[in-house]
Amino acid sequence: MVTRFKCLMRGEICCFFRDYEEMPVVFPWEKRKLEKLSSLINKDLMFKPYIIYSVGNKNIVVLYKWMINGLCPFLKNNKCSIHEYKPLACQMYPLLVGWDDNTLRVSLECPWIKDNIDKVKRLDPAKVFEKEYSVAVKVFLILKIIEEYARRNNWVKRVIGKEEEVNNYIEITDVLENIVDLMEKFEMQGEVDDQ
Ligand code: SF4
Repeated sequence: MVTRFKCLMRGEICCFFRDYEEMPVVFPWEKRKLEKLSSLINKDLMFKPYIIYSVGNKNIVVLYKWMINGLCPFLKNNKCSIHEYKPLACQMYPLLVGWDDNTLRVSLECPWIKDNIDKVKRLDPAKVFEKEYSVAVKVFLILKIIEEYARRNNWVKRVIGKEEEVNNYIEITDVLENIVDLMEKFEMQGEVDDQ
């Protein structure tokens, strides 16, 4: 029988974040969407530049860490209340991107992975995680486009640590305006109406 990933709906585990490394990462346009959606839960969300490129004295944010300590505020009755709009990092879970080396990884916190780790090691991730894998491919494609642009323009990539602060930054969408159009072509996510 073909082994396929099946979400066990254990949001109390998968949407619970204990430390900086575990917290989800979001692109700038996802951050804006989440900030609009935060009015639904009446809570302020916090984000911190995570993957940036430096060029001269300018810093360009490609990804933010979504600073969630504990349960995600959008988890309601153990379900994601913004399922339609949840960020790519959540859509591709339990697949993860290794940000330091752009590798595809699996989360060992996921209960399904814990039960199936031996099979997962042997099988093709594109078959086991069909839907999640296709989201991961989109994420890698976005990163590839940005990295290629960065390489041509001599930008220097940096992964920002928990204690490090980044001041005076702009976002990748300020430089590559058409990256959002590109996302729409990928039919990645619906728009959130202005609140
Ligand atoms: S946005 Fe939804 S899927 Fe993502 S961590 Fe929050 S509740 Fe979980």
